[in-house]
Amino acid sequence: MEGEAGACSTAATASCPLKNQDNTFSSSLSLEQIRKRQNQFSMERDWEQYHTPRNLLLALVGEVGELSEIFQWKGEVDVGLPGWSDKDRAHVGEELSDVLIYLIELAEKCHIDLPSAVLRKFELNCKKYPPEKVYGSSKKYTDYISDDN
Ligand SMILES: [Mg+2]
Repeated sequence: MEGEAGACSTAATASCPLKNQDNTFSSSLSLEQIRKRQNQFSMERDWEQYHTPRNLLLALVGEVGELSEIFQWKGEVDVGLPGWSDKDRAHVGEELSDVLIYLIELAEKCHIDLPSAVLRKFELNCKKYPPEKVYGSSKKYTDYISDDN
């Protein structure tokens, strides 16, 4: 990542991403690498001036809408998107990427260390949802608190 000549120096490759048989991600790209690359992309276009927290939040919500639009009117969709075309699967990958990129940039502009925040949130979720209490249930944590009282 570092030392590359511009944010767009790596050509887009896979036309249909994430078709790994073992359902794992193909890259170890870090959130920090994505943050740096998006910064470079914005600076090369003098777009930093527009990337305020509020604007980024609205852009993020817009991208979630674009992702939702792909699923709209399809009914329930099975894991792995069976029967979906390569074009639709690639589109899902593009919109997921837009969401992630804006999310990371929003965290940066809010001065939130996102990887640390995620690790902290995992810890909080583990305390909030102990397996022995919630196993196999979709209740909200407030329902478990009231069960104890
Ligand atoms: Mg988009």
